[in-house]
Amino acid sequence: VFVTKQPKQKKCRVCKTLFTPINSLQIVCCGKCGIEYVNREKKKAFNTKTKKMRLELMTYSDRKGKALDAVKRFVRARDRWRFISRGKPPECISCGTTSPDIQYAAGHYKTAGGNPELALDPKNIHLQCNHRCNKMMSGNINGDKTTRGYNAGIIAWYGEEEGLALIEYLTSHHEVRKYSHDELDNIRTEYNRLALELEKKIKGA
Ligand SMILES: [Zn+2]
Ligand SMILES: [Zn+2]
Repeated sequence: VFVTKQPKQKKCRVCKTLFTPINSLQIVCCGKCGIEYVNREKKKAFNTKTKKMRLELMTYSDRKGKALDAVKRFVRARDRWRFISRGKPPECISCGTTSPDIQYAAGHYKTAGGNPELALDPKNIHLQCNHRCNKMMSGNINGDKTTRGYNAGIIAWYGEEEGLALIEYLTSHHEVRKYSHDELDNIRTEYNRLALELEKKIKGA
């Protein structure tokens, strides 16, 4: 005698209701959900393909822009984690503000446009308040009457020895180099990966 085992109840992949499948291959509860499921899968495949094509069609400057976005994303996470991991609120490197209501950017010490050799170097970039220090004061390198400035911020963050060495590094000569497409793509994927790791840590803190 052939005994069929009654299949266990399953959750429909589309509408999430429980149903009793006819066989183990059934993953949706009804025909309507079946059509919906096929459409979703088609759309997913299409989006994956489009994304891949879009990446392949990126120009050199697109690639450089995306690489820079990834480095900046990493820097924001790195510097937020620097403070959060010590139980302190993250601060702007140039003015020290910790206000949670303002927007924070990743601000270059040596400007990205004027110093392409340091544009993608995370040592040259730190968490900074976007409106005042980054935009209005062009990085606020030397400070003003009420703020310490980027230089003093580096010393405050890294200590005198390490801080002075970093400033020395940032103000010395660096060869201009042209990145290949692959190098830019690697920078993008690597820094996005590192940023994601830190963002998870920050979320869990
Ligand atoms: Zn369903
Ligand atoms: Zn600031």
